[in-house]
Amino acid sequence: MASDGVVIVGASHAGFQVAASLRQAGFDGRVVLIGDEPVLPYQRPPLSKDYLDGKIGVDLLLMRPEAFYRDHRIDYLPGVRATGIDRAGKSVQLAGGKRLGYGHLVLATGARNRVPPLPGIELDGVCYLRTLAETEALRQRLAAAEHVVVIGAGFIGLEFAAVARAHGKHVCILELTDRVMGRVVAVPTSLFFAEAHARAGVAFRFGAQAVRIAGNNGRVEHVELAGGDKLRADLVLISIGVVPNGELAAAAGLAVANGIVVDEMLSTADPAISAIGDCAAFPCRHADGNPTRLEAVQNAADHARCVADRLVGKPHPYTALPWFWSEQGPLRLQIAGLTTGQDQSVLRGDPASGAFSVFCYRGGELLGIESVNRPADHAQARRLLAAGRQVTPDQAADDSFDLRAAAAARVG
Ligand SMILES: Cc1cc2nc3c(=O)[nH]c(=O)nc-3n(C[C@H](O)[C@H](O)[C@H](O)COP(=O)(O)OP(=O)(O)OC[C@H]3O[C@@H](n4cnc5c(N)ncnc54)[C@H](O)[C@@H]3O)c2cc1C
Repeated sequence: MASDGVVIVGASHAGFQVAASLRQAGFDGRVVLIGDEPVLPYQRPPLSKDYLDGKIGVDLLLMRPEAFYRDHRIDYLPGVRATGIDRAGKSVQLAGGKRLGYGHLVLATGARNRVPPLPGIELDGVCYLRTLAETEALRQRLAAAEHVVVIGAGFIGLEFAAVARAHGKHVCILELTDRVMGRVVAVPTSLFFAEAHARAGVAFRFGAQAVRIAGNNGRVEHVELAGGDKLRADLVLISIGVVPNGELAAAAGLAVANGIVVDEMLSTADPAISAIGDCAAFPCRHADGNPTRLEAVQNAADHARCVADRLVGKPHPYTALPWFWSEQGPLRLQIAGLTTGQDQSVLRGDPASGAFSVFCYRGGELLGIESVNRPADHAQARRLLAAGRQVTPDQAADDSFDLRAAAAARVG
């Protein structure tokens, strides 16, 4: 049953990129890409931005047109779910009964929406935003909705809220903590975005816990909060984060702890199985080597390239600098490095101007930089951090300090 080929489970940013990078690197064996969504691999970021807004069509979402897979001898199996792994026999079980042998197996199973255990969660009008199918449904709902409640003020909830407001809907965002994007950005960045959304007409309820979604004739009508308040809603978006898809790996006896556990080569304990992208917990150089699971296109694509290199005989540990972006109405947030765990944040530029950066430090060491509408800062931030260079808090705060020169400076 075993073969020399590479089988990839999950056909999104990570899975697609391994297949493409293997061919680019001259891999000549069989490449099979298995995806349980019934479409060609597509990009997720526009789902909550231009695609939701109706500015682009599906054609611009696709990673590549159909001919690419044929031309590059990538056997793409859409709408097919992998249901088990036989590690001893080196094969993957597919729903429907088929088995597929592998020389190497790449798990790129990503993550799925976290669903809160709320009464009423099954009502018509309760929506999610992760897949193309969910976005199609959400677009239709949004067109007909008047009152929108968003549960969770993370990136996706805020991006959706910006589009919904631009379409003239009443939008209220519920957030359990006291600030937006609190898991990932510094306080000044949170405050700036909350104010900008509020100015655009979004209402916020911080420290608010939804306890029930209520409806009539199966249709959502309002969201009830702890404390008894009821918020009118004909559309509720659940955006409280994701859960990594680690079940396939766990059932095969591989370690899973907030993601499929891999080493710095992105290999599981089984040398014939790698895990990459949103589903993988890897020792991150930029987080003191701690097990880290990231949800970002950069991470998925760079993980994929790293594994493809190993499979064509050019192994190297994964060291890429994490970076991320989000677009919320006219605001573009770009983050270089990982800023969680910071104990000092320093402003560069004036938030009142609508363009600034926040330099985040821990123990005086620069961890990461969040830039709002300052793409040049972001570009220099990536160079600085990737090279392990530092700028002091005083230098960061001084807008006349030459970041470009600091990023280009020779070390030692
Ligand atoms: C709406 C939205 C907006 C985003 N915006 C940004 C952004 O602006 N910037 C950014 O950096 N990141 C953004 N992200 C995050 C980014 O899209 C993810 O980090 C990226 O998609 C991760 O890719 P992945 O391939 O690891 O996993 P996923 O994209 O989750 O894909 C995994 C795929 O595997 C499939 N699968 C799972 N199990 C099986 C199985 N057993 N058999 C077959 N198939 C299986 C899943 O159905 C899915 O299609 C956004 C995400 C969303 C949802």
